[in-house]
Amino acid sequence: MSIQDILIKFKEHGYKITPQRQEIINVMLQENRHMTVDDIHGKISARFPNLSVDTVYRNVGVLEQLEMLDKTDFGDGKGRYKLVEKVGHRHHLICLKCGSSEEVDFCPLDYLDQGQIKDKNFAITRHNFEIFGYCARCSKKED
Ligand SMILES: [Zn+2]
Ligand SMILES: [Zn+2]
Repeated sequence: MSIQDILIKFKEHGYKITPQRQEIINVMLQENRHMTVDDIHGKISARFPNLSVDTVYRNVGVLEQLEMLDKTDFGDGKGRYKLVEKVGHRHHLICLKCGSSEEVDFCPLDYLDQGQIKDKNFAITRHNFEIFGYCARCSKKED
């Protein structure tokens, strides 16, 4: 997703583009990894000292609502967000050390025997699937 795509989506939904909002998006595009709200705030606070964590929270909420964020949890209870590369659902390989993530182009649901859940009479609307571990760079450093 480019900054243009994102800004267009904001306008379509009647959201104003404030400098703060643009900066939050810029940081998330540049970093291109899963970040907590605090991580994002930390990157921006040098340039926007008046920007509160609350404002970042609110903006992240808007991005999430517009389905432009992928949310995950590394197991420490903190939500981590990354801008999606394309709208629609996706799965990632996530590095627990540096936080980098890579999209994989398969969906485990395609391999699931749907018969196993059929008798539960459950209408699936969405699902999560993330693979955690160490990226090539980080596992090299471990040796
Ligand atoms: Zn890594
Ligand atoms: Zn899937």
